[in-house]
Amino acid sequence: MEEHVVWHEGLVTKQDRHRLNRHRSCLVWFTGLPASGKSTIAHHMEKELFDRGIRAYVLDGDNIRHGINSDLGFSREERKENLRRIAELSKLLVDAGIVVLAAFVSPYHEDREFVRGILGDESFFEIYVKCPPEVCEHRDPKGQYKKAREGIIKNYTGVSAPYEEPETPDLVLNTEELAVEDSVKSILELLDKRKFILLV
Ligand code: ADP
Repeated sequence: MEEHVVWHEGLVTKQDRHRLNRHRSCLVWFTGLPASGKSTIAHHMEKELFDRGIRAYVLDGDNIRHGINSDLGFSREERKENLRRIAELSKLLVDAGIVVLAAFVSPYHEDREFVRGILGDESFFEIYVKCPPEVCEHRDPKGQYKKAREGIIKNYTGVSAPYEEPETPDLVLNTEELAVEDSVKSILELLDKRKFILLV
């Protein structure tokens, strides 16, 4: 960072925005194999929160790579930079009072801990969207597993790149067994228990 750049404090704080919104903001981080169900659950969660008058927004892996991160590939370094930008973006949105629902494969423990570090323990929830690899590969909604098997897509998590399971996630959603609505309900209960939202 340029040494003469100085932070400018605003007149409205995050806490002010929480009071205005009548709920707190945080980053809900969905990690798991491709096709485990991260985006599906995040979007259903966003709709549920919206209908309850809670400000929420989905950051989705594939969409982000179309825009702000369109210059990045899937090497180890580029995956790191991808998540660094997403973490900083999420931090701004959380400061703006929004419940951020981030759906990213994020296969490396180190990178997820880095995101947690940027947001702070208080505002970060790690949700492990768990599903057996063979079920994910069978779902393959975007045909990417097939392309990875054929070698058309390189460094594909679950086929030609590793996935490190979370060690102590805040929640595990086993999507082979849980319906989408049940996953959403579990996350709502978690946010309610930690006093981020108030279920009525
Ligand atoms: P990811 O974001 O993890 O890559 P997606 O949400 O894009 O995964 O795709 C998951 C696919 O699995 C979707 O086609 C979804 O409809 C399907 N699916 C089947 N059962 C479930 C479930 N119980 N929870 C979430 N998704 C499911």
